[in-house]
Amino acid sequence: MVAEVAVIGSGPGGAVTAMLCAEAGKSVLLVEEGQNLPLHWPEHFSRDEILHKYRNAGVNVALGSTQIAYVEGCCVGGGSEVNRGLYYRTPSYVLDAWRKDFDVRYLSSDELMPHFTECEAIARVEYLPCEASAISKRLYEGAMNLGWHAIEAPRLYSYGGRGGSKQSMSETFVPRFLKAGGRLIADTAVRRLSRQEGKWRLDAIHTPTHGPSQTVEISADKVFVACGAVQTPALLRRSGLRKNIGNSLRFHPMLKVVAEFDYEVNDPGDFDPVHQIKEFEPHFGMGCSISKQPMLALTMAGRPDCLAYVEHRWRRMGIYYVQTTGGCATIRNLPFFRDPLVRVRHSEWDLHHYAEGLKRLSEALLAAGAIAIYPAAPEYPVLRSMADLRKLPENLPNGSGNLTSVHVFSSCPMGENEALCATDSFGRVREADGLYIADASLLCGPTIVNPQGTVMAVAHRNATHAIENRFA
Ligand SMILES: Cc1cc2nc3c(=O)[nH]c(=O)nc-3n(C[C@H](O)[C@H](O)[C@H](O)COP(=O)(O)OP(=O)(O)OC[C@H]3O[C@@H](n4cnc5c(N)ncnc54)[C@H](O)[C@@H]3O)c2cc1C
Repeated sequence: MVAEVAVIGSGPGGAVTAMLCAEAGKSVLLVEEGQNLPLHWPEHFSRDEILHKYRNAGVNVALGSTQIAYVEGCCVGGGSEVNRGLYYRTPSYVLDAWRKDFDVRYLSSDELMPHFTECEAIARVEYLPCEASAISKRLYEGAMNLGWHAIEAPRLYSYGGRGGSKQSMSETFVPRFLKAGGRLIADTAVRRLSRQEGKWRLDAIHTPTHGPSQTVEISADKVFVACGAVQTPALLRRSGLRKNIGNSLRFHPMLKVVAEFDYEVNDPGDFDPVHQIKEFEPHFGMGCSISKQPMLALTMAGRPDCLAYVEHRWRRMGIYYVQTTGGCATIRNLPFFRDPLVRVRHSEWDLHHYAEGLKRLSEALLAAGAIAIYPAAPEYPVLRSMADLRKLPENLPNGSGNLTSVHVFSSCPMGENEALCATDSFGRVREADGLYIADASLLCGPTIVNPQGTVMAVAHRNATHAIENRFA
């Protein structure tokens, strides 16, 4: 297969990039490892969705003395298909730090703004048209009772029509890409890139749901790698590119709790919870999760003595989380293994913020009227009063915690600081002609807020720059 531009990975970074290149008149091939499935099948937050749309059915671990279980989307649209679409523009203090520490040029809030605006014109961002769910409102009320800053997070969601529709990539950028003449090839994983006679050659394996796997060769003048923050460095390292690639993966590690109230808060018919506490950002933020009965059971899994409560009292329970910025990981390929080894370390500062965040989250929930808080970390006691919080440790004990993450980034940072950065300020890989990175790997650190908006705007900015400069 031959194309002028190949984009590998169809998540927010890849879909935005592919659409812009196709609309600029290029012949573009979008190559995606996962299946091409409708947004509404399998049902959102179901077991089948995890099996069909998540990488490794949601089982991935960053190993270390305190490990982080993380998940990634693996389907056309990537993480945008499986996430809740909570949406933010990047805070200006985050961009300022990236410009200063990584010497990223032309990345002020004002310079990124047109790219946010253009993405938001295609994938709509809306607030709830009705009252939030009781689970969501409890978090907000807890914050208000303590005088803390809390808000309703907007979502990539169009609430019109029955139940509305999430504005995932398969509903927005991918259809526009196809309309502009782009070609999408799903079920196809690129294993290696090489440079041959002035072109990029992509060695890939096509694995249809039914039928045998076949090898596929793709040739392209320009390649954008957008496989997500773990798979992008893995692919580049397999292809012999290593400078500042896969040395600095960052997360928003989460600690979850189940909060129990003495009245019903959990109605499966409610819209997804959307409130977040902002009082302690940039150190940590707090929010509420989908709290279906199986998810409550999973969050409670480390406390077998309390698991039976979920069966009888799940309607009085909700899942809440504190989300921090700790942990830094390396990504390395191992001979004979398909997935890379991800190894994470946490500083004392990180361990302190995990513990402090958990304490503050519990404080908010008690202030909201919770009668019991069950931290997912089994080493922590069940918390029933403000006095219980005073007994909690100052730092998360090393080796404990049940940390999870759905936000991964920064494994190949962009910028002119050549000691730290894998690419230039616009995602072009140094010393690799016509090769770009176009996903969350490029972000120079945690976004503090939910990251998808930043991934899309940065991809839009970089693809626009490449097109305007004729990929020079
Ligand atoms: C459960 C969950 C909830 C989340 N909630 C939110 C939220 O509410 N708000 C928010 O802002 N963010 C959220 N996120 C994060 C957000 O989805 C990601 O930041 C975003 O999807 C990253 O985009 P990306 O393009 O970098 O990578 P991805 O979205 O990870 O896309 C990469 C794509 O590349 C494909 N790929 C990988 N390797 C190869 C290969 N070798 N060949 C071909 N294809 C390949 C993958 O299958 C995948 O589809 C959530 C993520 C998850 C998983």
